Amino acid sequence: MNTPTDPLLDLFHQTGAYLRGHFRLTSGLHSPEYLQCALVLQHPAHAERLGKLLAEALAALMGGSPKPALVASPALGGIVIGHEVARALGARFIFTERDPSGKMLLRRGFSVDPGERAVVVEDVVTTGGSTREVVEALQAGGAEVLAAGSIIDRSGGQAQVGVPRVALVTLSVVTYPPDNCLLCQQGVPVIKPGSRQVG
Ligand code: ZN
Repeated sequence: MNTPTDPLLDLFHQTGAYLRGHFRLTSGLHSPEYLQCALVLQHPAHAERLGKLLAEALAALMGGSPKPALVASPALGGIVIGHEVARALGARFIFTERDPSGKMLLRRGFSVDPGERAVVVEDVVTTGGSTREVVEALQAGGAEVLAAGSIIDRSGGQAQVGVPRVALVTLSVVTYPPDNCLLCQQGVPVIKPGSRQVG
């Protein structure tokens, strides 16, 4: 997936955010490589720059329509970039969380207004599942979800989230279903990069 000339991927290499090993993704799929967005976003200047770029990409996707008033992201991975996109768009920012049963919800008193124009922002889209759940949570509250965006699209452009979607970097990454994973078959321990120290 390496495109060393891409300045955004360079940023991942520079900050040690491009990891190789054996990873269990949030989607449940296994992969020999992982882009740990948190390691780029730990630097506020990088986060701000990526937020501006993604806000511009979303604005281009939405054409001449009025700016969204709301940006929403799934916790935890989407929070930092979603907040920066909201800053760049002059919108407010909220996030969703899963309840113990796994349902994606607005908590902490967050709500949407009927007809409120919204976009959904995530750090990485793999299957699009989390983004789609946030879209549905906002729609259930009456919001008009215009578009979705992510820093990285690991689906090679394939993920469908129910609204138009854009990403700063689109990758086709090797993934394996857990019951048919080459690395598992070689006995390589699998790591969940979102929650554990790796590297
Ligand atoms: Zn595996």
